[in-house]
Amino acid sequence: MSARQPIDQFAAGLPGDRRSSVLGSCQAATSKRVTALADDFPHADELRRLAARIKQHTLDHLDRYLAAATDRLEEQGVQVHFADGAGEARSTIHRILADRDARRVVKAKSMVTEEIHLNEYLIERGIECLETDLGEFIIQIDGDVPSHIIRPITHKNRREIAQSFEREGLGAYNDDPEVITRRARVHLRDHYMRSQAGITGANFVSAESGRIVLVTNEGNSRFSMAPNPLHIAVVGIEKIIPRDRDLGVFLNLLARSATGQRLTVYTEFLRGPKAPRQPSGPEEMHVVFLDNGRSRILASDCREILRCIRCGACQNVCPVYRQASGHAYRSTYGGPIGAVLSPLLAGDDFASYADLPKASSLCGACREVCPVDIPIPDMLLKLRHQAHDAGLRSPGSPPMAPFAELATRPMVWRGAMSLSRAANLLPTRMLPVPALQSWLQLRTLPRWRGGEFRQWMAQRAPS
Ligand code: SF4
Repeated sequence: MSARQPIDQFAAGLPGDRRSSVLGSCQAATSKRVTALADDFPHADELRRLAARIKQHTLDHLDRYLAAATDRLEEQGVQVHFADGAGEARSTIHRILADRDARRVVKAKSMVTEEIHLNEYLIERGIECLETDLGEFIIQIDGDVPSHIIRPITHKNRREIAQSFEREGLGAYNDDPEVITRRARVHLRDHYMRSQAGITGANFVSAESGRIVLVTNEGNSRFSMAPNPLHIAVVGIEKIIPRDRDLGVFLNLLARSATGQRLTVYTEFLRGPKAPRQPSGPEEMHVVFLDNGRSRILASDCREILRCIRCGACQNVCPVYRQASGHAYRSTYGGPIGAVLSPLLAGDDFASYADLPKASSLCGACREVCPVDIPIPDMLLKLRHQAHDAGLRSPGSPPMAPFAELATRPMVWRGAMSLSRAANLLPTRMLPVPALQSWLQLRTLPRWRGGEFRQWMAQRAPS
């Protein structure tokens, strides 16, 4: 799709089976989340609000907590780096790998490395970089991009995946999910043993202990670290939490909100490189803290978006995302979180994503499910205002100035209402407003019933 293709046109062109894959998986995830939360937490809203308070407190004192986390990590033998932008993060990671002459890297799932386009960068420099999360592996062999934060292949069905495996020489066509998984496992395990470095993200970093917490359902982050002499964790600066005991709140909420599980299958706590008595694990460990626009967001009136723990629940529940899929958002992060985060992270390139906040019905479902109570609809409105103030209009959106002229002049409005019934006699494509034509290509107007509200009010008026 082109960088500026409006989301509604993208959604209209989406094949039916792709749309039903996205819709089905979002509906299933939403209902599992409801059950998992309600079963164990009769006052789940209070837990969400507690999580929001902890995260907001951390963000309000991020400089202090980041410094504390850095001290603890360094005490444990971790080398800490800070990167202002994507370019600096990529070159830092490349330098660490080059210093160790690491040419083969395995990678666990990490949205922040998607954000900085790390794979492409390393592969261009001759470093083999293999995704080890099954979904991300399929995305990589297909040359695709994730369509969901948690389930990157939510837009694919098993037949497409079986075809990809056959094409890549991973066995004859077989679309049994168990066979697909077994073949991927055999392929990936061979790579784990031959790699020289493992790259992961981090779900949380405790400022109190310097513990890095990673959650996966496949154990691939563990495999990415255990046999390798070098581990690099790439971490957005907003991933800090104050204390270890806060993990009780976040791990409970993350697993339930993301996948409807009580706890993610593998929850790992890392404290530095391996000790001499440990049989395996990395001898050298680096953490690259990434800013990439986060400090700017922290100083803005949308700072609450940095509370996000990347659970994807807002994507699952969003009526627009369910129809359009994540690819329509044209950025690493799709759905409601992406509609806010992408324009904010873009900085000077705000215009490229300024239409995304309009891709929302403002129904408020995203805020209701968000485990850290982020007021996403309020932020969508703020960003719409920002785009309006910057004079940015979405391609294909109807001009609102003529409507404002009509709606603020009662006499003219009444006259227009009386005449407008005539529009029902015309086919939509013949409506005499050229600027509306592209908008109407994708929409069916209801029959015009202008004026009925006034008649109804007049009848109710006391005589
Ligand atoms: S905004 Fe909230 S619901 Fe959406 S991914 Fe982030 S934490 Fe989850």
